[in-house]
Amino acid sequence: MLPSIARVALPVPLDKQFDYVIPSHLFPIIGGRVSVPFGRQTLVGIVTALVSESDFPKDQLKPIYAVLDSQPVWPESLYQLLFWCSQFYHHPLGDTLANAMPTAIRQGKAASFSPYREWSLTEEGRNQFMVGLSARAVQQNRAMYRLESGPVSHSMLLDEDIASTTLKALEKKGWVEMHERQPSVKPWPKQIEADVDKPKLSGEQAIAIAAVNSEPTFACYLLQGVTGSGKTEVYLNMIKPILEQGKQALVLVPEIGLTPQTINRFKRRFNVPIEVIHSGLNDTERLNAWLSARDKAAGIIIGTRSALLAPFADLGIIIVDEEHDSSYKQQDSLRYHARDVAVMRAAKENIPIVLGTATPALETLHNALTGKYHHLHLTQRAGLSVPTTNHVLDVKGLFLESGLSAPLIAQMRRHLQAGNQVLLFLNRRGFSPALMCHECGWIADCKRCDAYYTYHQNSREMRCHHCGSQHPVLHQCGSCGSTHLVTVGVGTEQLETQLSELFPEYKSIRIDRDSTRRKGSLETALQAIRNGEYQILIGTQMLAKGHHFPDVTMVGLLDVDGSLYSSDFRAAERFAQLFIQVSGRAGRSSKPGEVFLQTHHPEHALLQALLNKGYNEFAQTALQERKMAALPPYSYLTLVRAEANDSQQVEDFLRQMRHTFESHPQFNDTCMVLGPTPAPLAKRAGKFRWQLLIQAESRTLMQILLRSAKPAINLLPLAKKVRWTLDIEPQDLS
Ligand code: ADP
Ligand code: ZN
Ligand code: ZN
Repeated sequence: MLPSIARVALPVPLDKQFDYVIPSHLFPIIGGRVSVPFGRQTLVGIVTALVSESDFPKDQLKPIYAVLDSQPVWPESLYQLLFWCSQFYHHPLGDTLANAMPTAIRQGKAASFSPYREWSLTEEGRNQFMVGLSARAVQQNRAMYRLESGPVSHSMLLDEDIASTTLKALEKKGWVEMHERQPSVKPWPKQIEADVDKPKLSGEQAIAIAAVNSEPTFACYLLQGVTGSGKTEVYLNMIKPILEQGKQALVLVPEIGLTPQTINRFKRRFNVPIEVIHSGLNDTERLNAWLSARDKAAGIIIGTRSALLAPFADLGIIIVDEEHDSSYKQQDSLRYHARDVAVMRAAKENIPIVLGTATPALETLHNALTGKYHHLHLTQRAGLSVPTTNHVLDVKGLFLESGLSAPLIAQMRRHLQAGNQVLLFLNRRGFSPALMCHECGWIADCKRCDAYYTYHQNSREMRCHHCGSQHPVLHQCGSCGSTHLVTVGVGTEQLETQLSELFPEYKSIRIDRDSTRRKGSLETALQAIRNGEYQILIGTQMLAKGHHFPDVTMVGLLDVDGSLYSSDFRAAERFAQLFIQVSGRAGRSSKPGEVFLQTHHPEHALLQALLNKGYNEFAQTALQERKMAALPPYSYLTLVRAEANDSQQVEDFLRQMRHTFESHPQFNDTCMVLGPTPAPLAKRAGKFRWQLLIQAESRTLMQILLRSAKPAINLLPLAKKVRWTLDIEPQDLS
């Protein structure tokens, strides 16, 4: 019998699919889009099966409105991967599939390229960088730097606050030009590699490249290379033969790591089209990038997390740079880990995958040490770079001026006077993390959260970093009415103010989420730093990753003690990774670098291991600790987050949930449920938050428990009152 019913996955938060009647003139295909009625709406969904029977009486089923594709949206292997994602992360299939489509496709538009206008530098424009740009034309320079790495669409430039008038002015000078881009699928040039100077590879680099390129089939490689050891050079060499075989490459980078600098290195090296996918693209750009991967217009796709789900005509290799980076884990909706899913994708496509980092995640390192992954090493810095020296500054009992000790200030002066740049790292934005009453100790707190307001002096307001709410700065204590309010603790804003007083002769710049809110402003700031316009750089972790600042010779880390004594079991690992990253910013060229770490706990075992023996020694110790505590990678976790207006209801609900898990027949002594406990931020935006942590020794058992407990949990009466989510293998326990 001919299938008369289509099963459709719709973008709704329900864990099921919906059946529709196929009218006789329509021919839906599995994996293709259809538009269907849903309540009063019309939705676009994906056909997952064609059947002849439904659980519902046929006369109650509605008909499909339209068939939108004659080809499946995804290649079979990616389609399968998305199913796997939905199951593994316990996220509704319809929403998982919708997540993996560019907006235009999701809305039902045709899956074909649309033309758009874009700007690029002219030959004469390029030459201006050699001549030197006029320092006064700030807006024009911003546009020039933005275009330095290649053409950018008109709409994107407008999004980044680069005005049409600025572009017109540059066009008049003959430095930039606009064209209508008609994306088309052209065959790649014969000569894949551009004619550029390439460094002579080190022995270690050559070994790594040969290892990966010897086998075209699935294998996972951990490329552990110290900062500046030439990992990118290795990636380029691994990709070259793949492109020459007519296959494509996917390069994932962390959010912060996606800079024009990085993209440029790939564009300069290869003659094939390279597309970039990141969260800042508009709908047309995203669609075009997505299509160019699918139709093989692009040879390489470089992108952040979401690029992993791009379709490829013929994928030959996946590279995950800075694989330990936490931005690879999506923190809402489909909570997938792009690195982990990338390994799964490589397995399904039967191609090699390379995880590169100086500081592997303990999970990854464990896989390498147990032989599941191949372990490749780059132990030497490439080229002229010289290693940095680490110093611990014991600040116990020392007076701190906005967080700076006298010895640190002296060291800064020494480096600045030698004509170098100094980078100060403080992972807290705003002026001060709290505003306190000097008379009674009351602290201004957010009424909607269990958290204090951060004081932002520049904008004259208090902001809650958890719910985003804002409040004008108070001038009176909310408890005793005193007007003597003082700030407690130091944020980047305050540090910036203090530094301009301490070092009036040097210019400083602050890089954090507040100072780079406007699109494109981060890039402009980074460029100005490289041009030497600033001598002191102040930053949160935004500044820690991937950037290359040849003139930074000193890095100072302030206020890191919190991460040494945190309740999150990953805090130490994160700190170690951050420390190596931050210190890697110093001495990247021929000048030796020095790192100074201010702490009240110079004797801390972890610090000692890290500073004296390096990341590997630290990681070994940390792995031992994890093993003793049966924590990942020696077990698997699932975090249940639940919230509601009534705290008691949330707690009760999770207690019942715990019972459901514990009474499961396969629940044994290799499993454990912890909680319910209040979330680290027990109240957010007016809702009370509780957690349950499920631990199991095997991934399979974890999945069995979750899968079979879910229907029972959904039947609990409180399930209607409490909002809850599962975070599989969570990265963040808050
Ligand atoms: P990583 O990604 O490991 O931090 P990069 O690939 O950015 O390192 O390399 C750091 C610098 O060293 C770059 O300027 C790069 O061009 C240079 N480099 C890489 N490999 C070599 C080599 N074999 N010889 C000389 N210079 C190299
Ligand atoms: Zn709040
Ligand atoms: Zn008071």
